[in-house]
Amino acid sequence: MIRRLLARLVPGRIAAEPRIYGPGAHPVRRTQISRGAQDVVRKLQQAGFKAFIVGGAVRDLLLGITPKDFDLATNATPEQIKPLFRRAFIIGRRFRLVHVLAGAETIEVATFRSRQTGDDIADEHGRLLSDNVFGTQAQDAARRDFTINALYFDPTTEEVWDYVGGVADIKARRLRLIGDPVTRYREDPVRMLRGARLAAKLGISIEKKTAAPIPVLAPLIHNVPPARLFDEMEKILLSGHAAESVKSLRRHGLHHGMLPLLDVILEQPLGQRFVDLALANTDQRVSEGKSVTPAFLFASLLWHEVLASWNAARQRGERPTPALFDAMDRVLEQQAERLAIPRRFEATIKEIWALQPRFELRAGQRPFRLLEHPRFRAAYDFLVLRCESGELQGELAGLADWWTKFQDADTAERERMLKPDEAPKKRRRSRSRGRKREPAPDEASAGAAAEGEESAE
Ligand code: ATP
Ligand code: MG
Repeated sequence: MIRRLLARLVPGRIAAEPRIYGPGAHPVRRTQISRGAQDVVRKLQQAGFKAFIVGGAVRDLLLGITPKDFDLATNATPEQIKPLFRRAFIIGRRFRLVHVLAGAETIEVATFRSRQTGDDIADEHGRLLSDNVFGTQAQDAARRDFTINALYFDPTTEEVWDYVGGVADIKARRLRLIGDPVTRYREDPVRMLRGARLAAKLGISIEKKTAAPIPVLAPLIHNVPPARLFDEMEKILLSGHAAESVKSLRRHGLHHGMLPLLDVILEQPLGQRFVDLALANTDQRVSEGKSVTPAFLFASLLWHEVLASWNAARQRGERPTPALFDAMDRVLEQQAERLAIPRRFEATIKEIWALQPRFELRAGQRPFRLLEHPRFRAAYDFLVLRCESGELQGELAGLADWWTKFQDADTAERERMLKPDEAPKKRRRSRSRGRKREPAPDEASAGAAAEGEESAE
C-alpha cells in the first residue's frame, strides 16, 4: 500500500491507479472542448465505455494554450466504436484507429494500448517496430512519451486522471519522459525530437534526466525511416515555434540527423542571419493564421549551401545557369541522405531558387513575365529575406524594394521604373542563340544566369 502510494507521488513513475483531480483542482472546463469531441465522448460513455480527451489537447489546456485538435482514448475496440457512429472509419495499419466525422470535425479515437517489449518487436538498437496491443488505461498512460502528454480529461465529470505525475510536471513546467529515458529513446528516437519541439513550443524546460542521454543517443535518429523524420521536421517547422525549435535541436545536437547541412550554413554570419530571419518570418505568419509551405522553408534552410556551391562554380568559370542547377541538385542530394524531402516539395524548392536571378533583370518585358509566374509570390518573399539578411550588396541591396514598388505600381509607373535595356547583353544574346558559347569573365553574374534560364522556358 505504502509502495503504491509512493509510486503515485513520484513523477514519471507509473501507478496502477490514477490520481484524479476534480474540477476544483485544475482550470480545464468542458466548454473548452470542441462540440464534436464532447459528443463522441458522450456517445461512448452512454454505450458503457470509458472515454477521455487525451494527450496534447489536455496538456495545452492545462498550460493555457488553445489546442489544435482533440484526440480521444477509450477502452472500446475499433470494432466496438465504429457501429456507434453514423460516419466512422477504421484507419491505420500499424495501429488501428477510428476516425469519427462529427460535423466539420474529424475526431481520432484510439483504443487504450500497452507498451510492448521484447526482442521480437524491436530492432537491434531497441527501436520498437510494433505498437498495437490493446491494454488498460494505466498501460495506455505508460506507453506515452512525456508525463504531461499522458493526462486524461473527462468532459462529463471535468476530472483529470493522472497515472504518471503529469499534473505536477505541468505545474513545474518541465518535460519529463515516462520511465527510463535511455530505454524510451531507444524504443523510439523520434522522442528526442519531440522533446526539443515541445519544450520550444510550450516554453518549458526538459528535466535533467530526460535531457542527459540525448547527446549520446542522438545518432539513433539515423535509424528512423526518412519519411517519419520528414513528418517530424514538418511539425517542427510549421509549429509556429520554428526558430525556438531549431535552436533547441541544435542545443541538443539533434540537427545532425535532420539537416546535416545546417551546421555549415550557420557557420557563416550571413547564412545564420538568413535562416534566423526565415524561421522568425514563418513563425510570424503562423501566428497571423497565414499559410506557410514546407517547400519555402526548406528552400530557406538550404539556400546558403546552394549559394556557396554556385559562387564557387562561377569563380571557376562555369556557366552560371548550369552551375546553379548543379548546385541545387548537389545540395538536395546531400540533404536526402538523411531526411527525404518528398518529390512534390523538391520541384517548388528548385523553382524558388531558380527564379532568384530573374529578379535582377528589370528591363523590357522580363519583369512583367516574372510577375505572371505561378511561383512569383514565394520567390519574391524569398528575395525579401535575401535582402533583409544583407546577402545582396551595392545596387542590388534595394532589389526587393524595387519589386515591392513594381507590384503595387500602375502600368505607367511600371514603365517608368524599368531599367534601360542593356544593349551589349542583348547583342550577345541574339548571337548566342542556338549554339554553345564559352563563358566570358563578365558574364559570371546572376543576371546572365537568369537570361539562360529564361530562354530555356
Ligand atoms: P502536438 O500539439 O504537436 O500535436 P501532441 O503531443 O498532441 O503534440 P501528437 O503527435 O498529436 O503530439 O501525439 C498525440 C499523443 O500521442 C501525445 O500527446 C503522446 O501522448 C502520444 N505520442 C505521440 N508520439 C509518441 C511517441 N513517439 N511515443 C510515445 N507516445 C507518443
Ligand atoms: Mg496532437
